[in-house]
Amino acid sequence: MPRPIVARIHPDAVRHNLQLVRQKTPDSRVWAVVKANAYGHGIERIYPALAEADGIALLDLDEAVRVRELGWKKPVLLLEGIFTPADVAIADEYGLTVAVHCTEQLDLLCAAQVKQPIPINLKMNSGMNRLGFRPDVFRAAWERARSSASIGEITLMSHFASADDGDVDWQVDRFDAATSEIPGPRSLANSAAVLWHPRTHRNWVRPGIVLYGGSPSGLSRHVADIPLRASMSLTSQIIGTQTLSLQETVGYGRIFAANEPMRIGVVACGYADGYPRHAPTGTPIAVDGTLTRVVGRVSMDMLTVDLTPCPKAHVGSQVELWGDQVKIDDVAQASGTIGYELMCALARRVPVEVH
Ligand SMILES: *Cc1c(COP(=O)(O)O)cnc(C)c1O
Repeated sequence: MPRPIVARIHPDAVRHNLQLVRQKTPDSRVWAVVKANAYGHGIERIYPALAEADGIALLDLDEAVRVRELGWKKPVLLLEGIFTPADVAIADEYGLTVAVHCTEQLDLLCAAQVKQPIPINLKMNSGMNRLGFRPDVFRAAWERARSSASIGEITLMSHFASADDGDVDWQVDRFDAATSEIPGPRSLANSAAVLWHPRTHRNWVRPGIVLYGGSPSGLSRHVADIPLRASMSLTSQIIGTQTLSLQETVGYGRIFAANEPMRIGVVACGYADGYPRHAPTGTPIAVDGTLTRVVGRVSMDMLTVDLTPCPKAHVGSQVELWGDQVKIDDVAQASGTIGYELMCALARRVPVEVH
């Protein structure tokens, strides 16, 4: 029998969360962001839940081709655009929309012979200082794109540095000032801006993490009043128990010591499954539906939990690492990261079921 660990993917949750995005952005078209293999869920597994989206956005050409091969006829956006002339040919063949964030990408597109003009999202660096043309050269980039025979419709795009903590106006103002004379659809909003900044919604929105039920800020309390559903759960079982006497320690490094006699359970899940090694004592976890805490250091294939709140737990008891009861954001926060990273880091060795 394989180890009892299993990840469950819930396409219905993605469908539900997408509808919620729709309600929040009734006048916008929606790019469903499925980069990083749909935030670790597997594009193919959640694909049926995306039918109502207006487009699919991702980074890898391979993933874009996979989406086309699944039968997706609506737009597909490459969020980092193309890197080589061969990429332009693939974008042309599969009818992809490409982000254009630098002069080198414009050069590549302008030099290409294409069957059909390639639609682009021309990206402005409005303050993130990662990808994009600065506001003062944006108009010139747009003029060049507009006059190129190989470039089709031009959407004006930018990305926020801190939409999750309320600070978008300075970027929106820069973007609006530099584009006031430029026609075309606009696309600004990630998940945080979808939830919290209606001013940014414009023609297209680009939600990622909310489709999977995660909090854009990394803090579960920030979405506590929004009926999102978790689209990934990770469960396993207790495979052993120990009774510690006073001052006995558990696991590597002996970082947890019992300050009274206690029972602990050993769970078949470790960092090689994608559970964060940095999860400290106190990280939430559920055993047979009862919330308890991780104790001691997470090892490669196992971790240990406090069974004090669940005295009936035994070998074979069900454990939820994250899911409906234990928020992935709470596990992430305890471990110094965000739900995004835990979803993406789900290890290949974990069996996945789709429900
Ligand atoms: C990843 C990404 C998004 C989605 O971000 P979330 O915070 O997951 O909603 C939107 N736009 C761009 C350009 C991205 O790279």
